[in-house]
Amino acid sequence: MVYQTSEGRSNSYLIFDQDVSILVDTSIKKSRKRLLKKLDTFFGKNKLSYLVLTHSHYDHVENAAIIKEKYGAKVVIQSSEGDNLKQGTSLIPNGTNILTCIIVGVERKINRIASYEKVSPDIWVDDCYFLSSNCYLIHTPGHTKGSMSLIVDGEIALVGDAMFGVFSWSVFPPFADDVPIMIRSWEKLLKTDCEVYLPGHGTSNSKKLLKKQFERHILN
Ligand SMILES: [Zn+2]
Repeated sequence: MVYQTSEGRSNSYLIFDQDVSILVDTSIKKSRKRLLKKLDTFFGKNKLSYLVLTHSHYDHVENAAIIKEKYGAKVVIQSSEGDNLKQGTSLIPNGTNILTCIIVGVERKINRIASYEKVSPDIWVDDCYFLSSNCYLIHTPGHTKGSMSLIVDGEIALVGDAMFGVFSWSVFPPFADDVPIMIRSWEKLLKTDCEVYLPGHGTSNSKKLLKKQFERHILN
């Protein structure tokens, strides 16, 4: 069972698999009140099993520390980004189009590094990690070095910013540190045979659209 618990600026999702509960990403500080209110309706005094962070950009992790503290969740992140969480730093990604390249150029020039409340990861994932019998994480780098995706029931993939769901004709994110590696991660995601891909921003992408985009970009 997958619920969307935050939307707008950045999505977060809550998954239940038997007695295991998993929150994927936490959105921005501005959404904190609404997110905690929603989580309270699910948990009461019960505990959240895992908080999965698809990567360490501030718009996905700004509420991580409070959620760990409030619900006792084990914080899960890919190994190459665990130190960012411990330091509370969000690295500026590369732009993938003219507009975002300009934005990144300005942000780097003024050295505007976003920071957030530090949180210690409990589980550092390398390539693959099972959280429950039907839910596992895979490393899907490219947007960032340590981006990862959660596969649920072999049908739904929660992909963070490995793709965007803002335009109906494209899954290409406006920011990515390494585009060729990201395209390979799309291939890895397609191999899971999931039908639905839920991104960190926007709405779901179909396998058909992802396949079309992968084939287009792999040829370029
Ligand atoms: Zn991101």
